[in-house]
Amino acid sequence: PVSTIAFIGLGNMGLPMAINLTKAGHDLTVFDRVETAMQKAADEGMKRAASGAEAVADADIIVTMLPNGDIVQKVFEEIVPAAKNGAVVIDCSTIDVASARKAHEMASAAGLLPIDAPVSGGTGGAAAGTLTFMVGGSNEAFDKASPILDIMGGKLVHCGEGGAGQAAKICNNMLLGISMIGACEAFALAEKLGLSAQSAFDVISTSSGFCWSVNNYCPVPGVGPQSPADNDYKPGFAAELMAKDLGLSQQAAENAGQATPMGRHALDLYRRFIEEGGEGKDFSGIIEHLKAAGRS
Ligand code: NAD
Repeated sequence: PVSTIAFIGLGNMGLPMAINLTKAGHDLTVFDRVETAMQKAADEGMKRAASGAEAVADADIIVTMLPNGDIVQKVFEEIVPAAKNGAVVIDCSTIDVASARKAHEMASAAGLLPIDAPVSGGTGGAAAGTLTFMVGGSNEAFDKASPILDIMGGKLVHCGEGGAGQAAKICNNMLLGISMIGACEAFALAEKLGLSAQSAFDVISTSSGFCWSVNNYCPVPGVGPQSPADNDYKPGFAAELMAKDLGLSQQAAENAGQATPMGRHALDLYRRFIEEGGEGKDFSGIIEHLKAAGRS
């Protein structure tokens, strides 16, 4: 059946996700603050709304894909009172757990069915419709959202109640940030010890140091599967986005009273990398920064 869908936030991720919903035959009304994004969506056959509130007025499903928790809360303050009772609200943005829970409460109190559904897979996954969704919310909301998420993604994991999707996302990305720095240190040291990158890769990728950062996304050019290292560290997954996610995991760790010293250190290292030339580079490019730091 055709769903009436409102989509708010048509950036690097949102627009290709909205295009996949349109291609699947759904009826989309969209809003973004930026006119060029609205024009691109209109060119793909989506209806333009003049505001978030106007976009959601007739929608059975509402999807938001926005930069941060403050913006998500502001947009929810506008759209929740304007939405139809029983509408499913899917926030795909990566935001702090506390904002996600507030947005959730706001929508539930108004009779809507909210889920937090942050994604992994980047802009390539958004375009290909192969994103992984990590979902928090009620079973009813998850079941109603699933057919729509299936169009935009390849895998859905229902992690628990409201906020659980964001919690899963930041725990995963904290580990990714830490493991990428670890991989970079191992390859930098291997080089200084006179080992070829290929030898280091052949051993680590089949030994107990194997991990996604080495086996699937090796930070050294010319070894392992194609990765941003083979493309002058063009993202991929930009260092700024990794720093954002590490900031969210530190914020959550502080609120929850859990020590995450390696997560803290990874955040500091990524911030320094960004300040010292890493802005706009893939997060694996931190290997060049580590090498330049040399003996210090
Ligand atoms: P983006 O900056 O390209 O897009 C955000 C869009 O939201 C922009 O078009 C902006 O104009 C719009 N917007 C901002 N405030 C608005 C408002 N009040 N009303 C309507 N529209 C508004 O960002 P993105 O790369 O698409 O990322 C979106 C979210 O997805 C972020 O939370 C990000 O952390 C997360 N994410 C991104 C990636 C990635 O690889 N880019 C991967 C996974 C998750």
